[in-house]
Amino acid sequence: MPLDVAYSLEIEDFIDADKAYEFYWSGLITNKKAFVCPGDSCKAQVTCANIDEETQNMRVVPHFRIYGEHGEKCEIFNKIPLKILDLVGGEGNGEKKSVELSVVDSFILVRPSSYYEIRDKNTNSNGNDLKKKINYKSKNLTYDLMQNGFISSVYSVRTIVSRYLRYYADKSIDNRLVNISGKSVPYASFFKLIWEQDLESLPENSLIYYGWAYVDRYEKGYKVKFKKGLKDKSGVVLPVSFFISNDLIEKYPIKKLVTKRIASISIMSKPTAFVFIYGKPKLKKSATTSKEYINFSLYNLDMVDVNTDSPMPKKIKIN
Ligand SMILES: [Zn+2]
Repeated sequence: MPLDVAYSLEIEDFIDADKAYEFYWSGLITNKKAFVCPGDSCKAQVTCANIDEETQNMRVVPHFRIYGEHGEKCEIFNKIPLKILDLVGGEGNGEKKSVELSVVDSFILVRPSSYYEIRDKNTNSNGNDLKKKINYKSKNLTYDLMQNGFISSVYSVRTIVSRYLRYYADKSIDNRLVNISGKSVPYASFFKLIWEQDLESLPENSLIYYGWAYVDRYEKGYKVKFKKGLKDKSGVVLPVSFFISNDLIEKYPIKKLVTKRIASISIMSKPTAFVFIYGKPKLKKSATTSKEYINFSLYNLDMVDVNTDSPMPKKIKIN
């Protein structure tokens, strides 16, 4: 059974695999094996697989794997507290559909400033410390956390993409919602491929737009231009682009990940990337050439995900 949450011995807190991934790339977590099962008094060792992979796709999405035996009292071992299943009868075909109560991920557009602050990190990982930390864990485990700890907030497009891939793989995608500013939308309809649609026909609210794009280096950053454009009122296809400034990269806590990914893209003879960006495309007019173009404004690197290849499952078509 997959684990949604594990206890990090380095952070001394319960975290999900996506947060573990961000903590790894920001340097707060250094050992992919320094996790234990979140169950009561359980010392089963847990590894966060793929935490060290700079790319993500169907095969390398970060997730927890349990090694060793669960404790006798472990809830994970004895029942299923982290995933409450409610069986409801499907209509018509009599098929039973499983609905998880905790299907909503909250997508928070601004990461709290305390996100990367951890309480008195102990970098010494010898055996005695490990025991002490496990005791600490047991004392702090509460029922509430077991129930709610994994209905976590998501702070980046990268994590939304990662969850999308995970939910697709475990076939729960149809029951998954993402909540933004109080409004819930199905995961699948939260993504929109840029494919020469009419700009005016696009939804009012911001979404994650994605597609292949050219990545060009400029003195002040990178210009990302989607291969496909969007149509204006008269049916003319306009280019869609945005800019990732050096300043934005410089102040990003997971800079290492971004620079590693972009570096592997810039060595290509024709640098292209599979890009996701959260926002709403807007029609602009160049002040110098008065040419029209479509732009996303990027204020935070959490709102963009740049990949060397498409992480999306091959078979799937999302709108
Ligand atoms: Zn356990």
